[in-house]
Amino acid sequence: MSDLITIGGLQPFTMIDYPRKISAVVFLQGCNLRCRYCYNRSLLCSKADKGTEISFENLVSFLEKRRGFLESVVFSGGEPCLQQGLKEAMCLVADMGYKVGLHTNGFYTDVLTEIIEKKLADFIAIDFKAPFSRYEEITGAAINKEEYSRLADLLVSSNIEYEYRTTLHNGLLSEKDLFEMADWLIAHRIDNYALQEYKHGNSFDQKLAYSLGVSLSNLLYDKFKNGIKNFIIRSDSDANSKKLAA
Ligand code: SF4
Repeated sequence: MSDLITIGGLQPFTMIDYPRKISAVVFLQGCNLRCRYCYNRSLLCSKADKGTEISFENLVSFLEKRRGFLESVVFSGGEPCLQQGLKEAMCLVADMGYKVGLHTNGFYTDVLTEIIEKKLADFIAIDFKAPFSRYEEITGAAINKEEYSRLADLLVSSNIEYEYRTTLHNGLLSEKDLFEMADWLIAHRIDNYALQEYKHGNSFDQKLAYSLGVSLSNLLYDKFKNGIKNFIIRSDSDANSKKLAA
């Protein structure tokens, strides 16, 4: 069982990665993308740096000790769907009595379809990184729009809790891009969507310029707000919140 999944890191306690639940986040090692704004650089390679890898047994014994305190376990990354043992790991964690969350970039539609159809996750957060025509430029890989859209329709019609989310760097995504993305979200009846502020730090593209928080025109803000039932903006700083209200 020790090599069921390759774990690059563990966040033992969080209130923000699964709605309304106290969670631990398991960061799975490796990702198929190279998003320019990615700040999880240490998780991108398939093999963890020496000393950062945590065995699945260690995770299980950690979760045994936290029973009654933690409510859910979120599999994040990297890209969790890359790992063969993900579904089994999710089942084992669910058997321990935990709710299971998953954060994914949405590329592995076959794996995600199985997870949704078999209800292996209780909450799924999927990245919506850019207008489809700009995916490759921003993430390093093109995405299959039809498969991604089919997956969205399946998830929305399931009773699994979900969220679509976009990391916004003002130098990467324009208002025009965001209008296009809003059209897709509304057309696919996405009810839960978060625009997340880009976090400065050790991003994959070291030349990425400073981005001034999340700033939307009134027209675009109204489009999101009126078209999407639960539209939120995640921003760490007060300055950004004020900017939004302006
Ligand atoms: S931000 Fe992009 S490159 Fe980084 S872990 Fe997520 S999907 Fe992978």
